Amino acid sequence: MTRLEASITELAGVGPALAEKLARLNIVSIADLLFHLPLRYQDRTHITPIAALRSGLESVVEGEVTAADVIKGKRLSLLVRIKDGSGIVSLRFFHFAPAQQKQFARGARVRFFGEARAGSTGLEFYHPEYRLLNDPDAPVEETLTPIYPTTEGLAQPRLRGLILQALQRFEAHPDELPELIPEPLRVRFRLPGLDESLRFLHQPPPDAPLDMLADGHHPAQRRLALEELLAHQLSLRQIRERIREDSAPQLPAGTSLQTRFLAGLPFALTGAQHRVLSEIGRDVVSGVPMLRLVQGDVGSGKTVVAAMAALQAIAGDYQAAMMAPTELLAEQHFRSFKHWFEPLGIDVAWLSGKLKGKTRLDTKAAIADGRAQVIVGTHALFQQDVHFHRLGLAIIDEQHRFGVHQRLALREKGESAGITPHQLIMTATPIPRTLAMSAYADLDLSVIDELPPGRTPVKTVAVADERRGEVIERIRNACRDGRQAYWVCTLIEESEALQCQAAEATRDALVMALPEFQVGLVHGRMKSAEKATIMAAFKAGELDLLVATTVIEVGVDVPNASLMIIENPERLGLAQLHQLRGRVGRGRIESFCVLLYHPPLSEHSRERLAVMRETNDGFRIAEKDLELRGPGEVLGTRQTGLVGMKIADLERDRNLLEPVKALSTALLAQSPACVEPLIRRWLGDKANRYGQV
Ligand code: ADP
Ligand code: MG
Repeated sequence: MTRLEASITELAGVGPALAEKLARLNIVSIADLLFHLPLRYQDRTHITPIAALRSGLESVVEGEVTAADVIKGKRLSLLVRIKDGSGIVSLRFFHFAPAQQKQFARGARVRFFGEARAGSTGLEFYHPEYRLLNDPDAPVEETLTPIYPTTEGLAQPRLRGLILQALQRFEAHPDELPELIPEPLRVRFRLPGLDESLRFLHQPPPDAPLDMLADGHHPAQRRLALEELLAHQLSLRQIRERIREDSAPQLPAGTSLQTRFLAGLPFALTGAQHRVLSEIGRDVVSGVPMLRLVQGDVGSGKTVVAAMAALQAIAGDYQAAMMAPTELLAEQHFRSFKHWFEPLGIDVAWLSGKLKGKTRLDTKAAIADGRAQVIVGTHALFQQDVHFHRLGLAIIDEQHRFGVHQRLALREKGESAGITPHQLIMTATPIPRTLAMSAYADLDLSVIDELPPGRTPVKTVAVADERRGEVIERIRNACRDGRQAYWVCTLIEESEALQCQAAEATRDALVMALPEFQVGLVHGRMKSAEKATIMAAFKAGELDLLVATTVIEVGVDVPNASLMIIENPERLGLAQLHQLRGRVGRGRIESFCVLLYHPPLSEHSRERLAVMRETNDGFRIAEKDLELRGPGEVLGTRQTGLVGMKIADLERDRNLLEPVKALSTALLAQSPACVEPLIRRWLGDKANRYGQV
């Protein structure tokens, strides 16, 4: 006999073709069928008299055929009239076979299910599901009928039949899918049992609360969602525990390099920067790998914090690597680090995917033999052929762009030397606390909750694009006063090529409109050297206006830029708008952001732009964003450990995150034997992969 975790091909009637369709639904094992939950339910548990039918409601009806005629209306249709003693109703088929007309012989008994709608003959059912009854006492359904998410070529009845087989299998062998949350914890967290929950959701009794089920708030749903979240949380905690068993470099505290670096800065660190640095300092002296997420709003000064941490690694005779998600940003960090570190006699290297030929070989050699002390780059740092001499610290900027895997891959880079590097992860995405707990359960959190002094909050206005002329005047005034401006093009087009073309057109128009100023352009399709030249020119003040696609979203730092125009801001998420806007307001001059929208705005867009006008606070914006868009969008779909949830929905199940945390702690303490099976049940092979690194 097959076991529940066996492949679905072991079930009667499942061949390769069906297995392939099921695989599209992520159903591979028999147990997967059990966790494939209905989207909604139909009530087919009782027969509704025709007189009691209501338009818009789904019902099962039974009656006798009085007529079946082909009607020539606007479209040919087969109209079947049915009576049941309480009234008469029609079935209408626009697609029908001649045989069907014969089937509906006068006097035949029919049972059908569908939604009643007002039609030309009174209430009508369009293409209902129906069957002719030989047995007048044919039973109705005993439970609500589940409607499952399905895929092309796999009809509901077929899928339902398979799930029924799986349920029967489970009933006969309950120990094959054991309860993994022990009774005392289920009582404490008020969770129904696994078997009870699954059975209820696949076969709810006729009186089940449909509203609650539709909202996903039924205890049975809650129980399964919670178990899934728990498995993800435990997996992240496990990664953390494994990493922390390794040994990491013990880096010296309060080094003279750091003192000299600070003395050379034109500003003093903020209190928040100091606090976060002392948290990092405490981690890296301990010999246990640091796993720390630094969260700080746009412009809060994360780069300096990263630089200070890198100096600590170098003082301990280790290398530090800093990775950023885009060439542009990595390039900028490279410049900053070179500017700061070369006077201290530290060698800073650059590695990107675009680095080719001999330069690449030389750089790799310098990384491998330790001549390169600080290495800045893009994803290229992860690549197989890159070997570090003694990597002591891995810094990852703008973490939300990377997934857990990449984070773990950098850690492997230290392995060769038998050391696990410390990890410092930096993000400007202010992740709401509850989400942070769940997405980053493997990280400690530091928050830079203070902006450097002297910043004036950016004033944001929304202007309809009919007033483009006024906006251009505004740029003219700003540039005349020696300020600089950004013009950000956002486009719907999926294709980057089209986006770049449109940005070029905008640049041309602005060159015409503002002949007295220097206008530059950066977009994603330019060569990185070209981009770097333009950015450098803008930073040096040689360009007055920079037209850009959203490539400048992250990290670009030009304090003299005080005006930003964002075209069609309604197309962007709040977090992205906030990131973009963070490019201005970096100096002492009052800065402005003009949201140049295209009317009419939807209610939703209006609401979002209003949030941007009202606040500069990244946390408030993130909370609002979460409310408006849901967590998948807020964190980015690459957030491994969050995507690929079968049942849980972080938005809907937000209030489960606190209990999940408590439950995971309790489970680890009281029933550690349940942890592995739980992770395996929900993460499967993914868990394996985490486990190995
Ligand atoms: P982000 O946190 O967005 O990465 P950056 O590290 O790019 O911010 O810093 C933004 C700007 O603020 C940079 O020009 C940086 O030099 C400057 N800066 C950082 N810390 C301070 C500080 N304590 N006082 C004044 N300016 C600072
Ligand atoms: Mg930054």
